[in-house]
Parts: sequence; structure tokens; C-alpha cells
Amino acid sequence: MKTDVLVVGAGFSGAVVARQLAERGLQVLVVDRRDHIGGNAHDRTDAHGVLVHPYGPHIFHTNSARIFEYLSQFTAWRPYEHRVLASVDGRLVPLPINIDTVNRLYGMSLDETTIQDFFDGVREPRDPIRTSEDVVVNAVGRDLYEKFFRGYTRKQWGLDPSELAASVAARIPTRTNHDDRYFTDTYQAMPVDGYTRMFERILDHAHIRVETGVDFFAERERLKARHLVYTGPVDAYYQHRFGALPYRSLRFEHEHLADTQRYQDVGTVNYPNDHAYTRITEFKHITGQEHAGTSVVREYPQAEGEPYYPVPRPENEQLFKRYEAFALEEPGVTFVGRLAQYRYYNMDQCVGAALKAAEYVEEKLGLATRV
Ligand code: FAD
Ligand code: UDP
Repeated sequence: MKTDVLVVGAGFSGAVVARQLAERGLQVLVVDRRDHIGGNAHDRTDAHGVLVHPYGPHIFHTNSARIFEYLSQFTAWRPYEHRVLASVDGRLVPLPINIDTVNRLYGMSLDETTIQDFFDGVREPRDPIRTSEDVVVNAVGRDLYEKFFRGYTRKQWGLDPSELAASVAARIPTRTNHDDRYFTDTYQAMPVDGYTRMFERILDHAHIRVETGVDFFAERERLKARHLVYTGPVDAYYQHRFGALPYRSLRFEHEHLADTQRYQDVGTVNYPNDHAYTRITEFKHITGQEHAGTSVVREYPQAEGEPYYPVPRPENEQLFKRYEAFALEEPGVTFVGRLAQYRYYNMDQCVGAALKAAEYVEEKLGLATRV
């Protein structure tokens, strides 16, 4: 069968582009070098029957009605609001930092009328705000910065917060209320039957074929198509010709605890200052699954290995721009997703980028604009 579009990568970015183009009548082949679909959002049942996320905890959240409705074609949802505690000074306290975090750490009794005065008293104003250190110290001062952010960030990235773009720490707000949810997005939910089942439905279309265990670079000659959508690392596409773009990796240590209903009180506990891992996540909180035992994962950051995170800092952005200049001019190829666009995208942002990329491909292939 002829292939109009080859999509490299069966994660959020690749799967959504494939579906959109298939619905426009194009014949789409999706390949992924892993032995499964779903990319890093892939989930599966472990040897003990607990649904786990092999590549770390994935919690869906978005403010976009369009993106939530788009995915709702392929899954029903279980409402879920993620909560995180941080282990600091021997206590477990809410993160993002809120009124209760401060009260519990310092033995105070601040409320919504006094918390901002407290932050104003300890913050160190910074202008301009360029780095992740600037963001946190400017908001909550040095002590809270050192308790919650400095150690965690050094572990997670192998860099000091002063070496990372402001956007990284800015993912975590500071709260002047008691809200202890990790996210405040309008839509917060988990796919009822899991992510992999959702991906199966996205890719279940008469015009889509999927081949897993296929590396694009190894089989490039066989995989010819009118257009290529590439969602892998952009520097790999260009044989690292300007040098390797840094991507941060992780090692995941999964553990099952038999006859343990609950391992911890919330979905994730962060360890900013102790241990080689950054956080422990217990899946049953997130999925709502009932089981006599429980499964957890610890995340150990490392430089080498599967690329999971782009590393947001100015020199990396500059290097990416050199690749991007080629990518934007590459005839017959569209680059989309967290690795190809070198953007710290959440899942919903990948869906948004993929919907946009599909429109671009349609235009390139001479299809009429969607109405
Ligand atoms: P990927 O999922 O990385 O998919 C790219 C695919 O391309 C991969 O499967 C890869 O095997 C394949 N590929 C690459 N090169 C080749 C090649 N040469 N040939 C064939 N195939 C190739 N987002 C959230 O919204 N909420 C969360 O809670 C959340 N938690 C996260 C936790 C962790 C530990 C990590 C790492 C990420 C998390 N994310 C979360 C982000 C989320 O994983 C990404 O936004 C999203 O999965 C990226 O989708 P993608 O399709 O762009 O890339
Ligand atoms: N962060 C931190 N301490 C924490 C949690 C987060 O310093 O307890 C910083 C750290 O730099 C981290 C970033 O904030 O990489 C973003 O955190 P998030 O939980 O969004 O990371 P992700 O889930 O994407 O790994």
C-alpha cells in the first residue's frame, strides 16, 4: 500500500498528527523504535496486575477545552486532582508552597490576610528575572528556595537553578491560599482505561498502519513517503552535526509492595534534599485502581540514556535554533513534539502542537483548509 505520510514516533505528537491526516483521507504509516505505542505516556499492567507508567507518572491536565474535547473522542475520564507533599526538615508539607506549608515548617499561624506580608518580608526582589533561582528567591526568599528548590533542581538537572531558565521553576507557583493541588487547570483527569488504550483508539483508523520496533534511521530506504512527520530528537535527525543537544534522562526504579494498600498519603512525595531520587509516585492514587498490593516508582535523574527532558537554558536554546533553522526549511519534513521542537511540553501542549502540525502538512500536501 502506498504511504502518503510517514510518522516517526507513536507518542502524543505522532499519534494525533496521524489521526488527523488519516481523517483527511491520507494513508499514514506510524513507526516507533520502541515495542509499544504511547511514547513516554505509555502505561501497562505490571507483573502484579497494577496499572503503572513505565516512564514515570503522567497526570493529564489542561486549560484548553478544545484539547480536552479532542481527546475525549478516544477516552472517558476519571476526575483526578494530583497532590504532592515534599519531605523537608523531617516533615511532609504541601507543594506548591501554600499557607499550610509555611505554617507547618515554621510553626506559624498565618492566614490569607497575612501570608503575602510574610512572603514580602522574606523575598529577595530580583529584576530582571532570568533564571530559576531568580524566580523562587524573588517570590519566597532564600530559606524556602534552599529547602524546596535548590537541591531538587540540582538533582533533577545536574545544574544549579541559577543555570536554568526561569521557565523551569516557574512551573511551580507560590500560593497565598490553602489550595494543595499540584495543578489548577480547568480539566484534570485520567483516561479511564489508561493511556495505552486511548492511543489504541487514536490509531485505530482504516488509513493508519502502525509498526513498532522499527527505527526510522535503520530502515529509512524502505519507509519512503510523500511527507515525513518526525517526533524524535531533532539533533539525531541531523546526525548531531552542530553537536549533541542536551536532553536530561531518568532511571526508573519500579517496586511492588504486596499486601500494602497504601504506601504514601498522596500521589507523589518529593525529596528535595535526601536520596538520589527526586520523587516517589504511587500509581493507585492516580489511576484509582483497587488492588491488595501497591506499585511505586522512584525517579533517578541521569545525563545518559533515553532523552526525556529538553534542558531549558540559553546556550541550549541557541544550539536548538541552529537545528531549527534547518528543520524549518527541510522540504517534505515536519518536526513536532517535545524532542523535535526541544520544548518542555506537557501532554496537552503536544496535542496542541500536533493539531497545528497536521494542518500545516495538509496545506503542504495541497488539501483544502479544514472548516
Ligand atoms: P514522546 O512521547 O517522547 O514520543 C516520541 C516517540 O518517538 C518515542 O516513543 C520514541 O521511541 C520515538 N522515536 C524517537 N526516535 C525514533 C526513531 N529514530 N525511529 C522510530 N521512533 C523514534 N506531561 C503531562 O502533561 N503531565 C505529566 O504528569 C507528565 N509527566 C511526565 C513525567 C516524566 C518522567 C516525563 C519524562 C514526562 C512527563 N510529561 C508529562 C511530558 C510528556 O511525557 C510529554 O509531553 C509527551 O509524552 C511527549 O510526547 P511526544 O510524542 O512529543 O514525545
Ligand atoms: N522543582 C523543585 N522542587 C520540587 C519540585 C519541582 O525544585 O519539589 C523544580 C525542579 O527544577 C523541577 C521543576 O521545578 O524540574 C519543574 O517541576 P515539575 O514537577 O513540573 O517537573 P516534571 O513533573 O516535569 O518532572
